[in-house]
Amino acid sequence: MNLILMGLPGAGKGTQAEKIVEKYEIPHISTGDMFRLAIKEGTELGQKAKSYMDEGALVPDEVTIGIVQERLNKDDCQKGFLLDGFPRTLAQAEALDDLLSNMNRSIDFVLHVDVAKEKLVERLTGRRICPKCGTTYHVVFNPPEVEGVCDKDGETLIQREDDQPSTVSNRLEVNLEQTQPMLDFYADKGDLVTINGSQEIDKVFSDIDEKLKTIS
Ligand SMILES: [Zn+2]
Repeated sequence: MNLILMGLPGAGKGTQAEKIVEKYEIPHISTGDMFRLAIKEGTELGQKAKSYMDEGALVPDEVTIGIVQERLNKDDCQKGFLLDGFPRTLAQAEALDDLLSNMNRSIDFVLHVDVAKEKLVERLTGRRICPKCGTTYHVVFNPPEVEGVCDKDGETLIQREDDQPSTVSNRLEVNLEQTQPMLDFYADKGDLVTINGSQEIDKVFSDIDEKLKTIS
């Protein structure tokens, strides 16, 4: 079961990833974890990646792909994997394709948790934070007992610059532009499964699960 999970920030990808790996017992491979592991193990590629990260530079694709390859070669990936956060660009998707075919493997499904942009803006701009203790709330999903006030210390909650509607909307737009060519690529290959992410969490998972059951 070789899977890629895609979705914009706020689409609920993380929650679904947890459910998938729990049920199907495949490793959840996020880009961050993959880099951390390679750096911790001190592999040559890990050290290369670290040198770029230390400079605040983007890790080049050839290094990233190499790290993905090392990760997918590990024992725990032999019965499958769930990639999350990789590939991030069309070039990476194409490189992953080559890499997998060299390993005589292929992607079964690309699960795209799809939520309308307007809805994501609503979800992402609802975040509030306590400037005193750092507790985060959400006006709809995790509201404080008293509106606008921290449960722990009574401080007035604020909305961070990053969570302002115009900032969120721009961020999503950039993300969408980057994602669309990849979605088209996987749709052409017949691997893309679009899941309606606007539904209840459990319904989203049961839609995913229906699809995964078809992999034998
Ligand atoms: Zn507080």
